[in-house]
Amino acid sequence: MNSSTGSEKLSGPSSFIRSLPKAELHLHLEGTVDPATLAELSRRHPTTLPVLNNRYSDVSDSGRVLSEDDARAIYRYKDFIGFLMAFKAVTERLRDPDDYELITYRMCEELAREGCVYAEPYVSVGVIYWRGGEFDHLFDGMERGRERGERDFGVKINWIFDAVRHFGPDEGWKVVEKAIQLRERNVVGIGIGGDEAGGPAENFREIYENAAKNGLHLTAHAGESTGPESIWSAMNDLKAERIGHGLHAIEDPELVEHLAKSGTAIEVCVSSNVRTGCCRALAEHPVRKLFDAGVKITIATDDPEMFGCTLTGEYQILQDQFGFSDDDLRRVARNSFEASFLPETEKQKYLAAI
Ligand SMILES: [Zn+2]
Repeated sequence: MNSSTGSEKLSGPSSFIRSLPKAELHLHLEGTVDPATLAELSRRHPTTLPVLNNRYSDVSDSGRVLSEDDARAIYRYKDFIGFLMAFKAVTERLRDPDDYELITYRMCEELAREGCVYAEPYVSVGVIYWRGGEFDHLFDGMERGRERGERDFGVKINWIFDAVRHFGPDEGWKVVEKAIQLRERNVVGIGIGGDEAGGPAENFREIYENAAKNGLHLTAHAGESTGPESIWSAMNDLKAERIGHGLHAIEDPELVEHLAKSGTAIEVCVSSNVRTGCCRALAEHPVRKLFDAGVKITIATDDPEMFGCTLTGEYQILQDQFGFSDDDLRRVARNSFEASFLPETEKQKYLAAI
């Protein structure tokens, strides 16, 4: 964890950035829960929960009803453990279909505010199964939230089901089988997140093969907390079409060249990388070098409420800190649609609007 975000003064997002149609390709549904919504979830589930002993934030979240200020304090964590605790504080209060409907609907509302017209949010299905929960009725809630969100805010959503690397391949199979079963209900792909070192990509090879055979698209968090070899493995072992984070690709020139030549997109999350400490300082982030090397970069927020970032803010950081021109940003926005898992005709419709 590094508390420095570069300390440079950032301007608010320009009107150009706000109005640029964008797709968000690396967004965890659970990471979009804002403090007001977390407080609301806490009121819905006021029963005593497992004590978190969250000594890493300013609030001891021991299962009482959280106020909005409490929720804000939980998000002001100081290190990576604190971030995990914040994530847990949210997931422990997501219990019913109505909870998932609420957070999905609010996510759509926020995306619309950011000029985002399309998103492929990750859902931590692996975590739900790990906790022993059933998933189908929760997904019904998400789908209700998506339908209402699309109708009220004009944001289109397709889901990516996320398995957890360090829970192992047996748990991963459950996630993928569910994704296959629900693929007619706006599920477009699968991903793996979590501890890269504790859950090597090669363990998931057959799972990914099976997903692809059943018409699902493939992405994988890789090169976030470990080096380029993790990205090579995601590409070679998993045939991942996109790489989540890909931060450490820059350490291997051959890999950068391969990414550029193959047109493999990277879901770059600048603020997330700095806040988790995976990148030591904003100025050291390789986003500009990757872009200049011809890698198809897309820009995303990962867990916007927990990292205190927004999609337009991330675009503005590219401009203010890394000298991206408006034309460069237009390129990045185009990338976000080209790298999406939408059918070609739909991609073209969005691209025409840029
Ligand atoms: Zn992520």
